[in-house]
Amino acid sequence: MSDQAGQTPSPAQRIGILGGGQLGRMLGLAGIPLGLSFVFLDPAPDACAAATGELLQAGFSDTDAARDLAAMVDVATFDFENVPETTARAVLEICPLYPAPNALGASQDRITENELLSGLGIQVPPYHRVSSRTDLLQGLDALGYPAVLKTRRLGYDGKGQAVLRDQEDLERAWQKLGDFELILESFVPFDLECSMVAVRALNGDTRVWPLIRNVHSNGILMLSLPGVFDRTLQSKAAAKMRTLLEHFDYTGVLTMEFFLLDGELLVNEFAPRVHNSGHWTIDGASCSQFENHLRAVAGLPLGETEMKDYSIMFNWIGEMPDREKAMAIPGLHWHDYGKSPRPGRKIGHATLTAETMDELKANASRLAGIAGGAFPALLGNLFD
Ligand code: AMP
Repeated sequence: MSDQAGQTPSPAQRIGILGGGQLGRMLGLAGIPLGLSFVFLDPAPDACAAATGELLQAGFSDTDAARDLAAMVDVATFDFENVPETTARAVLEICPLYPAPNALGASQDRITENELLSGLGIQVPPYHRVSSRTDLLQGLDALGYPAVLKTRRLGYDGKGQAVLRDQEDLERAWQKLGDFELILESFVPFDLECSMVAVRALNGDTRVWPLIRNVHSNGILMLSLPGVFDRTLQSKAAAKMRTLLEHFDYTGVLTMEFFLLDGELLVNEFAPRVHNSGHWTIDGASCSQFENHLRAVAGLPLGETEMKDYSIMFNWIGEMPDREKAMAIPGLHWHDYGKSPRPGRKIGHATLTAETMDELKANASRLAGIAGGAFPALLGNLFD
């Protein structure tokens, strides 16, 4: 990017992305119409984002490869939050990297994350640091059963965590997780889970999408339904987002996941990236999370974040339902990530859009019937 004194820097054209999974692929799909091109760095030879750009096949700790990527692009970003700090710094020697590593560092460790959020006055569930069995017992004394034991690092989609309801659970969890640095959290008897996706531009312009209701099964997101909360809750969530974005002087998309308990929002975690619960924005919002992330990191003006229609997203985990049957439903938008199916793997999603909530409900029941598995029951709870 040219950045000479007295001149406005020209927007970036070529974007480097650390990570080449489905989030990278959807960034690529959103960026091509904007005139952007992409280079991805990913260890997998069949990284699915490669359909939308060039692939440098290398490990995420390979700082030479990260520098090679940086030399090929105007600006870099990432599609997952576990980019090693050394890799982020290597990229930064050569080109700008957004969001900056301060947010990456904070989100990679659940203790650092919780300390930061609490310090900013953003409420998190009560927690206790666990480095030894004694710490765990002290934590349980302080927090009581039930509690959730989680690895501090590299946990996602419920991986690396265990719910402790009694002494037996404690022994089993300690055998499985005792070798890691851990965090013990109170089990939150939440009314529901929700998330908010926001974007902040280089000049500080900040936009939020509507708060999203989420339904998980075995720790994995299954359904996302935006725009069903009142203004008070929307404003409470947006205020927390703005506080964090300003703290980091952030550029790009950031997501916060919440537990709603008695009208209050507790933050479960934040992710400094586009997020699964924001996939509905591709089809249901004026400007998607993917496009706005690119607009932000490339130095372009942000797009509008309001809902165009009522929407609901279904996540396809391990297998996809019959495409022909699903696509016969009005307002169905199909997203196949081009990944080989494996149990527990996110391989696609579908978003239904409709002009009325009644139409959305009816079409969502049809899709849940076609998808089968846990969907009919999960959907029943969602619309109750
Ligand atoms: P995580 O990997 O931290 O996003 O957790 C995955 C899912 O596990 C969350 O979406 C919740 O459904 C559940 N979970 C995690 N932490 C807690 C907690 N402290 N209390 C209750 N449920 C939790």
